[in-house]
Amino acid sequence: MNLLIIGAPGAGKGTVSDRIINDYELVHVSTGDMLREAVKNGTPVGLQAQGYMNRGELVPDEVIHDIIVERLSRDDVDAGFLFDGYPRTKNQAVDLDEILKQLDKKVDCVIDLDIDDEDLIKRITGRRLCPDCGEIYNIYYKPSKTEGICDKCGGTLIQRKDDNPDSLKVRLEEYHKNTQPVIEYYEKMDIVRHVDASMSKDEVYDSVKNILEGLY
Ligand code: ADP
Ligand code: ZN
Repeated sequence: MNLLIIGAPGAGKGTVSDRIINDYELVHVSTGDMLREAVKNGTPVGLQAQGYMNRGELVPDEVIHDIIVERLSRDDVDAGFLFDGYPRTKNQAVDLDEILKQLDKKVDCVIDLDIDDEDLIKRITGRRLCPDCGEIYNIYYKPSKTEGICDKCGGTLIQRKDDNPDSLKVRLEEYHKNTQPVIEYYEKMDIVRHVDASMSKDEVYDSVKNILEGLY
């Protein structure tokens, strides 16, 4: 089973993906995580990507193409994969089809996490993360007990560089302009399932799980 998860920034792609991975044997491939890792390590891809990412713009398709081809060359993806945050442009979607055809694979289902921009803004600008253990907080919805300190491990909470109002505005524009057409592209293949992502994490995951149970 090969899945894609699509949604605006803050829709909850990361949370849903973690739960799917926990329950199903799929390899989680997040281009956002891969790019952040590359930036942290100062690799050539990271150096190319970091300016775009900080501004909230999409990283060029060629850069993404290379990291996807590299990732799909590893054997672990034969068990099935979950792509999170990719494809994000119609061009990437067409490209992915070609890459997969060569590998005798295809996309089986696209999960679209649907949510209004207003909800996203609070989720994103309030988001804080612990760099040490990965725990995610939100100053509005899920504050840590002591401001700025991780409840789990005592780490100092940080904000993602692109979780500021200016970058978020660009990310939302990019989403509507470039990623909405990706959903339409897969609609034509009749493999998209929409989920209301404004509900609680548990409710969202219940809907996703219902969809997946129907596929397996
Ligand atoms: P979010 O969906 O919350 O913006 P991601 O972690 O998915 O977070 O992506 C963060 C940033 O990484 C994006 O704003 C963009 O700059 C870059 N990025 C991630 N995936 C892609 C992709 N498939 N194509 C182009 N840029 C990407
Ligand atoms: Zn922590």
